[in-house]
Amino acid sequence: MEYSLTEQQKTIKDLARRVAEERILPVRAELDEKEEFPWGIVKDMADADLFRVFVPEEYDGLGGGCLELCLVVEELSRICSAVAVTYAASALGVLTLLEYGTEAQRRKYLPEIAAGKKLGAFAVTEAQAGSDASAIKTTAEKVDGGYMLNGTKQFITNGGEAELYTVICLTDKARGARGASALLVEKGTPGFSFGKKEKKLGIRSSATRELVFRNCLVPEENLIGKPGLGFVLAMRLFDRSRPGIGSQAVGLAQGALEAAVEYTRQRIQFGRPLISLPVVQDMLAEMATGVEAARALVYAAARTVDSGVKDVTEASCMAKVFASDVAMKVATDAVQLCGGAGYMRDYPVEKMMRDAKITQIYEGSNQVLRNAIAIELRKRKGRRE
Ligand SMILES: Cc1cc2nc3c(=O)[nH]c(=O)nc-3n(C[C@H](O)[C@H](O)[C@H](O)COP(=O)(O)OP(=O)(O)OC[C@H]3O[C@@H](n4cnc5c(N)ncnc54)[C@H](O)[C@@H]3O)c2cc1C
Repeated sequence: MEYSLTEQQKTIKDLARRVAEERILPVRAELDEKEEFPWGIVKDMADADLFRVFVPEEYDGLGGGCLELCLVVEELSRICSAVAVTYAASALGVLTLLEYGTEAQRRKYLPEIAAGKKLGAFAVTEAQAGSDASAIKTTAEKVDGGYMLNGTKQFITNGGEAELYTVICLTDKARGARGASALLVEKGTPGFSFGKKEKKLGIRSSATRELVFRNCLVPEENLIGKPGLGFVLAMRLFDRSRPGIGSQAVGLAQGALEAAVEYTRQRIQFGRPLISLPVVQDMLAEMATGVEAARALVYAAARTVDSGVKDVTEASCMAKVFASDVAMKVATDAVQLCGGAGYMRDYPVEKMMRDAKITQIYEGSNQVLRNAIAIELRKRKGRRE
């Protein structure tokens, strides 16, 4: 397919593919098996300037937008989506600064993230606040010189490994979601510690941890935007980041498809390669069509985000939902086509099938995002151009 990528976008995509194939491929099984955070790969990605892609040029970045970020995530995820989400979550931790941060915050934090010296993370989820993020209980009471943060965040990607956390918390409990704000919290701030590291079905080398805040004093200058803007900021961020989860799904599905084609080409049963069987061809054709349709939708959604139009909720939810459902189906079919070998850890599709599931769950589960798409449809008056 022709996606009319610019020369710079092609270069970024090729660079990410090279890092994925040369550095991640040889160690992905081991990282998964040991559930080890991929610090060596983070360094490789930093050396290749991949963390600069989503940071504006004035803060030592390459000035890419949503599409450029998606291209990198897709290529990383084609080989290992645990690494891809580590990369994407770092972007998630700082992207709100682009729209809502002060110049001082951007100068202080973005160059280090761009250099890949530090990772970012974004924390909204709590034990009682998953799909219903408005049920958060973490509070940040205004005190002299800043905010006193108390509460526990759960399931935070890059938790414990990142240096910089954007934390959504209540600065005005009485106002509920309208009293939520966003604070930047640095690792090492007194009163900030890490709880349980989760053991997961998939994306096992990515870190998922609890963040624990006990009388943690966050300086006033670490407030992002205005008090009360926390939820607006989080929802706008997810609108812009969901194509990234879509691209994680597309990359994974592409990797699974390639593995299935390779296996069915080489595997001889009944005296001929499996790929010569019509039933196998039918499955592969469906898988390939799904991957390409998902890619087209993700790129279109990313371009919609980059175009600067105000309302991108529908596009970004559609891309994430569609691509993640394709990834789950394609990865499952890839295991099926690889038979017993596909079920074994020696073969990559086993990991891909485990890794695919999360794309249907995080950054809004697919049921919740389908609700959001339906709400947009109900809101719409008249015909859409
Ligand atoms: C590996 C991993 C990494 C994560 N990383 C982060 C992170 O970095 N930062 C962060 O803040 N959070 C993170 N999360 C949290 C993630 O976003 C939530 O898990 C997700 O939003 C779903 O919330 P929940 O797990 O509480 O499920 P629940 O809200 O308990 O939902 C359970 C089920 O009910 C369904 N459901 C709930 N409400 C509705 C509804 N209104 N209509 C229809 N169905 C509904 C859901 O779709 C789901 O199938 C992560 C989670 C995981 C597993």
